[in-house]
Amino acid sequence: MSPFVGGNRVDVGGVSVSTDHYIGGERVASPFTFEDRSPLDWSVLLADVSRGDAQTAHLAVQAAHDAFPAWAALGAAGRAEIMHRLADLIDEHVPSLAAVECLDMAMLEESLRLRVLARGARNFRAYADLARDYEERVWSSNGTANRVIRMPAGPTAVITPWNAPFMLSTWKCAPALAAGNTVVLKPAEWSPLSCSLLADLAHAAGVPAGVFNVVQGIGEEVGAALVHDPRLTRISFTGSPETARHIGVAAAKNIVPFTAELGGKGPFVVFADCNLEAAARKAAGQFDDSGQVCLAGTRLLVEARVRDEFLRMFHSFADQHVLGDSREAATTISPMIHPDHVASVAGFVDRARAHGDTILRGGTRSPLGGADGLWYEPTLIEPASNDSEVVQSEIFGPVLTFQTFTDEADAIRLANSTAYGLSAIVYTGSQPRAERMGRAVRAGTVWTNCFLVRDLTAPFGGCGISGIGREGGDYALDFYSDLKMFQVLEGTTA
Ligand code: NAD
Repeated sequence: MSPFVGGNRVDVGGVSVSTDHYIGGERVASPFTFEDRSPLDWSVLLADVSRGDAQTAHLAVQAAHDAFPAWAALGAAGRAEIMHRLADLIDEHVPSLAAVECLDMAMLEESLRLRVLARGARNFRAYADLARDYEERVWSSNGTANRVIRMPAGPTAVITPWNAPFMLSTWKCAPALAAGNTVVLKPAEWSPLSCSLLADLAHAAGVPAGVFNVVQGIGEEVGAALVHDPRLTRISFTGSPETARHIGVAAAKNIVPFTAELGGKGPFVVFADCNLEAAARKAAGQFDDSGQVCLAGTRLLVEARVRDEFLRMFHSFADQHVLGDSREAATTISPMIHPDHVASVAGFVDRARAHGDTILRGGTRSPLGGADGLWYEPTLIEPASNDSEVVQSEIFGPVLTFQTFTDEADAIRLANSTAYGLSAIVYTGSQPRAERMGRAVRAGTVWTNCFLVRDLTAPFGGCGISGIGREGGDYALDFYSDLKMFQVLEGTTA
């Protein structure tokens, strides 16, 4: 039997998707809706989705609040059983999830099927097991037996962005649920549909009513109401620094811990001693997903003496990109998410031109899809100076900058010259240099001669305006728990 049943539904790519919220184990509709269109063809209205408000947020937090004691009391092993069932259901329904997410946010369908969605299932399995297998820290001192125990914290708000919405939501919901918290998830309004399917799968897996809730709507409306609710005990946010500032105010008001995984402006540093061809290939790969990747290395910093050779190789790899429909296997560059976002990216490039930066390739909208098409040509810009807006601000589109450096100290200076610090990529053939760069570059993650490989137990987060806190592995479980120091005077209990 299909798990995709109940509430108001529309057909999206052959999959039945609820346009309602999911609160307290039931589908709940709002009187107002917002339009959700497909970036693959903007004339296609995928769904009119329930537009939540303060009352919706209140109901969802109430449901999470009511469900919390029983979910917490179930214990990590009991929760793990249910979460494993959910992971199995995700794996089983990858084709449906991929079809919907591809239409909704235009990520390449093949990449969704083969990599991204399976990560969602792995998140549930990995955190369920980590929480279940947690070994308490135990020691004896000053005549007392000491233990550090993790207590479930309570209702948790999870707010996610429009890129990779399913995977990024599971990245946060899985540790929160495994830790014994209940969750209200607010997906982004530009790609709300796959998280609605996640609610169906959670329901089918037997996640108890109220433990996992999804509210749909506009960030400034239902999102803002949600994060201000004083019954929340954690807020976990991924999105832009601008929104994080608003959420931080709400978190401060209620004294609620929050993590913020924010934008990036990663340096992609290429030393002359590296495998230049591998570096150039990977650099051209930063256009993947139309550059709508927070972790992308968008500032190419190349040692001056290999400038021409690197650029020649880079262009030849970039020439191989195929802009097209994300459902077709040959496509490597998908359309961008929304007309407003294309306009924002085009604005950056236009201002760069006016500022005297040099456009080395691209710099225009693609004619694909006609006037309403959302493809932007892969673009490389050589800035007139390091102060250029395209160097200093996150663009979140298929736009990279190109600069050269003279030596290692110069590379570090440029790499660390923005307010961001999410990730960095370094290509070098020297182990001592790799070690020095890994320590000197200010970023939450530094990849050396590789990109986007990550162990789920590793810490993840950003420095500077790229974020607050770390998630991943035990770091996430600690965040979603109240760590308790539990002491007993030795010899007083038997
Ligand atoms: P955004 O900040 O505009 O929105 C993110 C979410 O916040 C959405 O669900 C939105 O509805 C909600 N929101 C907006 N205003 C709100 C408010 N006042 N109160 C509560 N919620 C509110 O970000 P976006 O445009 O959806 O995503 C792109 C950004 O996300 C980029 O900066 C990108 O780098 C970043 N990002 C970071 C990571 C990471 O792991 N560090 C991953 C993916 C995306």
